[in-house]
Amino acid sequence: MSAHQLIITQRAELLAVICGGGTAEPLDCVLDLLLAWEVLVWEDYLSIRLAEKPLCSNVRQLLDVVYDKGEDACSLFLAAISQVLPEEQKAGLCFGKGCAEVGKNRPDTATLTLLADRPVLVTKLRDNIDGALNVLLTTGCFTIKDCDGVQLPVYTPSQQVRRLLDQVKFKGETAAKTLLQYLEQTEPTRPNPEDKKNQISADCLLYQKKLRSSVAAQSLFLSTYGGTGSFSLDDIYTDGLLELMDGSGETTTLGLEDVVGPIGTLNEDADTILLTGEAGSGKSTLLQRLHLLWAREALLTNTFLLFPFSCRKLNAEHRELSLKELLFLHCCWSDRSQDEVFQFILDHPHMILFTFDGLDEFKQGFTDEERHCCPTKQVPIPVLLFNLLQGTLMKGILKVVTSRPQAVGPSLKRYLRKEVHLKGFSPRGISCFVKKHHIDPAMARRVIDSLQGNTVLLGLCHMPVFCWIVTKCHQELLGGQDSIPQTITDVYLLVLQHFFQRKSSQPQGVLGKAWLEEHLDTVLKLGQLALEGLEASCYVFSGYELQRNGLTDQDVSMGFLIYCNDLSVTDCKHYEFLHITLQCFFAAMFVVLNRNNNRSVISRLFQPQYRQMSGRSQRCLGHCIDPLVEVKSHVAETPNLQITAQFVSGLLSQRHHNLLLDCCPTAVRERKAKQVVKSLSKGMQRHFKSIPRPVEGEKKSMHAMPSFVWLIKCIYEMQDNSIAQDAMAKLDVEHLKLTYCNIGPVECTALAYVLKYLRNPVGLQLDNNSVGDVGVEQLLPCLHICHSLYLRNNNISDEGIQKLLEKGMKCESFQKIALFNNKLTDACTQHFASLLKTKQNFLSLRLGNNNITSLGAEQLAEGLSYNQSLQYLGLWGNKIGDRGAEALATALKNSTALIWLSLVDNGVGSAGAYALAELISQSKTLEVLWLNKNCISRAGVESLIEGLKMNSSVKEVWLRGNNLSPEEEEELSKQESRLTF
Ligand code: ADP
Repeated sequence: MSAHQLIITQRAELLAVICGGGTAEPLDCVLDLLLAWEVLVWEDYLSIRLAEKPLCSNVRQLLDVVYDKGEDACSLFLAAISQVLPEEQKAGLCFGKGCAEVGKNRPDTATLTLLADRPVLVTKLRDNIDGALNVLLTTGCFTIKDCDGVQLPVYTPSQQVRRLLDQVKFKGETAAKTLLQYLEQTEPTRPNPEDKKNQISADCLLYQKKLRSSVAAQSLFLSTYGGTGSFSLDDIYTDGLLELMDGSGETTTLGLEDVVGPIGTLNEDADTILLTGEAGSGKSTLLQRLHLLWAREALLTNTFLLFPFSCRKLNAEHRELSLKELLFLHCCWSDRSQDEVFQFILDHPHMILFTFDGLDEFKQGFTDEERHCCPTKQVPIPVLLFNLLQGTLMKGILKVVTSRPQAVGPSLKRYLRKEVHLKGFSPRGISCFVKKHHIDPAMARRVIDSLQGNTVLLGLCHMPVFCWIVTKCHQELLGGQDSIPQTITDVYLLVLQHFFQRKSSQPQGVLGKAWLEEHLDTVLKLGQLALEGLEASCYVFSGYELQRNGLTDQDVSMGFLIYCNDLSVTDCKHYEFLHITLQCFFAAMFVVLNRNNNRSVISRLFQPQYRQMSGRSQRCLGHCIDPLVEVKSHVAETPNLQITAQFVSGLLSQRHHNLLLDCCPTAVRERKAKQVVKSLSKGMQRHFKSIPRPVEGEKKSMHAMPSFVWLIKCIYEMQDNSIAQDAMAKLDVEHLKLTYCNIGPVECTALAYVLKYLRNPVGLQLDNNSVGDVGVEQLLPCLHICHSLYLRNNNISDEGIQKLLEKGMKCESFQKIALFNNKLTDACTQHFASLLKTKQNFLSLRLGNNNITSLGAEQLAEGLSYNQSLQYLGLWGNKIGDRGAEALATALKNSTALIWLSLVDNGVGSAGAYALAELISQSKTLEVLWLNKNCISRAGVESLIEGLKMNSSVKEVWLRGNNLSPEEEEELSKQESRLTF
């Protein structure tokens, strides 16, 4: 009898034996086998194993499905029954002739492997469910809910395994791979005593739950919106530009998830990931987003516990603490089994993440002098923090640290796993942020339009903190009061006005001309607190300190100070400024408006590296100042004092004369302004003195120190042409190098404002910054004084280039441009063509590593055919192909200037080589031709050799990495010594 018939005739008996024991185990075992043998597909299994139906219905359904599948399926089914049932139950049943061959091919995916091995796995995993779940949980494949679902007490261990396998199948290939890996590691399957350790106890899970909810609560709102409460982080968070700092010069853009991921790892042994960015670039907000997403299990799913720390808050911790105390006291108290939770942390460093926000605000500069590795020994906080960052303490735990770049010295850099740079918003990010901020689309449009109409302001908005202010103060902005903001001082005066207006008793929109004078008392009190705080690296203030500075509840209610509620060290209320830049602004207000300042305040600000702690700040903020750390503290303070100095310059600008008129006697103000001008001039002189004498035959060149850009920014804030002019009068260089200086649009505005007064044209080298299209536009006012402009790796697109070239065409001195590694396409080549046609003194055009195709090359060729000055043309790493090479070669044939041509890595084949051979045969000037990494074959090279026979100017033709065998290369290089393979 066929298997088909056996199933029909024995249906009742089969039903009875499978369901007889009252448990689902025989059915499940049969199903395991049928899945493994591919008799059933997953959908069959799901339709059969419906939990809500009685067992006998499930078995009937199985019999039907198998019957429908035909003879082979039926015989395999009988074989499965025979394998599963004990001998005594098999009596009286007929299993037929035996089963068909079961497929022997090894499955090629992890999911299929799990199905094929299912019967064995059920037995294997029975004693290991906890371990498997643990791995799936920590790798983020399973959530706690998934684990709970598997481990419901109503299920037998085998059923739990099957549920686990079903869930893994549901989760997909990654989960399946993870489980297989785990199984490999746990071979042989004897119970492993270590497994006990790997299990996550209920108490640890409880602690995780508590930590998650506390982190979520802390990160739900942005502090700058704290007062209004109308925006949650979800509503307003806008992705910033995150880039990898790997020193290669190439830019890698990262997503939020990559901050902690493996991309960009430079040192596998180090655990500290550094996130750098200027003040207000959004570092804290990014970290906050990371925290929130972790708390919601939406990101960092491999991280079981995340401990967030704020360095500014750690400053206030004066006790000696052990690591254990630090975690439980500063982050989240463990109500139960503290020892067990801590032991879990020690045992599972790879499942833990620490974040430290604002290392630049930590009172003490990083040092690795004192070693400490005991997690339970009490030590001062700096020792604890620095040893964590070094990895001496808690090796293996990843730490994400944020800081302004200036505060990170070489001693810390040694311990970095990788460095990520946050560059603020992209132009699209700005629009996106404005749209999120203004729910009314018409209002958002108006704000965006007004920004686009004022590129200086648009440039400022790349910094999220300025973007926040500008958007917040849109009424003042769109109301067109006075003049449009041009400087950061203007922007902060706007926010000052906005906050006072909010609390004003007068009708909306009316704030008297003397608004500052009206609020002078509040401004001075806040200013004094701010300045003393900055000088002592103190950013959190107690109610007592506020009181001592005379600040009343009404002053606080203005909204510049916010209540900092997660300072769990002490019970009393603490406050901080809305943002560090606002603290700097108030400090600057105090420096400018306080009549009793002595002269040293300004010189201290403008020479922060030579600064000494004033007696007053020591006295007033004694609690913040640890006498032992005072000497090293200036490292952290310098960036803040520099921002303050910038605001002081801005406030003392003639532009704000009227505003300050009644707040400060003119004589005092003028005296201060003079002092600032003198300090700036001195600072510049110091720079110029550092310029080395030029080596014979080389250009006189200045490599700017970081503080050069700061001095330029201060001069810009003063908005006084004569100061800019004086500053540049003594700068006598031919080349100004400002590479890797964090130059964005804001810095470009300031640079152009000052450099336009240079006496003689310079080469301006701005490689590896974040100039972007908006920055390029800001540079235009100084383009006439640049004979060369180097903008390699600066995120510039066709739009920016179009504007640059329109202006460049009219600048007599402008002769060279380098744009390697930007975002240029064929849309910009027509503008280069116009430039080449118009400017018959243009010398060098380097467009390597962009996206120019044959079309772009053809357009470029059109301009080149009219040009008789270009000496250097670089197109390395584009995609011009044969057609592009032909067009360029034809256009350049008549050039009497071309010396150097690079078409490396451009997909040029032999057809292109023939055209280039023509060029070689005719050129009287070409010296070097780069053709490496193309697809030129023997015939192409032979034509180049023919061309070279007629040429005496060419010295080198580079042909490495083309379509030639080593033998051909050897043979051809013998024919022509100028070829290099
Ligand atoms: P940093 O830590 O670099 O000084 P913050 O993160 O404190 O900068 O940002 C300052 C302010 O800028 C924030 O309070 C917020 O208003 C705004 N901001 C920063 N980053 C973002 C972002 N990604 N999305 C929305 N707003 C942001």
